[in-house]
Amino acid sequence: MQLYNLKQPEQQVSFEQAVLQGLGQQQGLFFPKNLKPIEDIDALLAMDFNSRNASVLAHLLDHELSEEVLKGMLDEAFTFKAPLKQVDDNSYCLELFHGPTLAFKDFGARFMAQCLKRFGGDEKLTIVTATSGDTGAAVAHAFYGMDNVDVVIMYPKGKISLLQEKMFCTLGKNIKTIAVEGTFDDCQQLVKQTFDDQDLRSQMRLNSANSINISRIAAQVCYYFEAVAQLKQQNADDKVVISVPSGNFGNLTAGLMAKCLGLPVERFIAATNVNDTVPRYWQTGNWAPAVTVPTLSNAMDVCEPNNWPRIEEMFKVGLLDKSCLSTTMVDEEDTQLSMRQMYQQGFTSEPHAAVAYKALKRSIVDGEVGLFLGTAHPAKFKESVENVLGQPIALPKELAACATEDILSHSFDADYSALRAFLLAQR
Ligand SMILES: *Cc1c(COP(=O)(O)O)cnc(C)c1O
Repeated sequence: MQLYNLKQPEQQVSFEQAVLQGLGQQQGLFFPKNLKPIEDIDALLAMDFNSRNASVLAHLLDHELSEEVLKGMLDEAFTFKAPLKQVDDNSYCLELFHGPTLAFKDFGARFMAQCLKRFGGDEKLTIVTATSGDTGAAVAHAFYGMDNVDVVIMYPKGKISLLQEKMFCTLGKNIKTIAVEGTFDDCQQLVKQTFDDQDLRSQMRLNSANSINISRIAAQVCYYFEAVAQLKQQNADDKVVISVPSGNFGNLTAGLMAKCLGLPVERFIAATNVNDTVPRYWQTGNWAPAVTVPTLSNAMDVCEPNNWPRIEEMFKVGLLDKSCLSTTMVDEEDTQLSMRQMYQQGFTSEPHAAVAYKALKRSIVDGEVGLFLGTAHPAKFKESVENVLGQPIALPKELAACATEDILSHSFDADYSALRAFLLAQR
């Protein structure tokens, strides 16, 4: 597989190099050079989950890894399913929260861990990551106890739910966590500075597990095929419209890449909360990030979504037509209304999926079937879900287990020199 750096197209790398480097020169994202449709989509959709996933990834990676090798990796990484639930007449939720940390990020983080196990070599590797909530847990659990890997995770202090925090800040061992006095965008900026610090990089081997890593995006391409396969089984194969609750836009990048690979999806909806840089941009052509505002859907509190250049590229080079993407902002009031409406329909939802459902309902027309991504288990947002619905939410065993543990995090200002010193001390 060949990928090029979006900021410096002459830098070209293989999948293995892209996974190991994370970001390219000038902090450029890597993007696949030859995205081309898979020929027999119907046969592909008829396959079982991981066989199909291996086939999709072998195609995407241009057979840099064989289908057989990929199947082995996927059987380790994707040990849980993505069931489809009907929510109303013409809308379905693809539940992506049945992994060990109850959010879709388990798919990407666990596949990335498999890739690093395969490509990583013997030298110690330090993974530096920012999280707006769910990445932290997924990455921490995917790499927990792995030899030769240290994980350093930064998150905005007080801006993620207590249970989210408990899920990754209580592990210890090779998992180090830092509560940063600032926003998620500050944390993300610190990660970028780390990767730009050539002097530091000459002293230690660094990687990031953020959705800038192409292995995470690749993993997420798989479940869009699963969504359409299950819709077909339910004979709900009108024109498919997929609504994606978006923050850093990794999930939407994967969905649009699946479309480039020939997945029959009519169009996508990018649904954001009031942190709506992309919806405003899509309407006006003006990229104007505002200050990040905390919301109920906190994993989407991102004003400078770092995957957006990949999406822009798909339109710029003509892989996709602009008509296959619309964007919508869903405010806090509509998020709550959406949660209550879903509850009345027998579906308990957390705020992120509720944003996507609302966006879908605003947009879907006759002759279309709607699908939205259920990105996290409602219990992960227990407090806000209970507040909005007025109903108690039971904790699944994964959360009950860590709820009583102590948080082991360090705490810093959003200051690169503090992070740098911390990283050097970990060598
Ligand atoms: C990370 C996350 C999102 C946003 O996904 P992106 O790929 O960053 O756009 C949405 N919902 C939940 C629950 C998340 O954890």
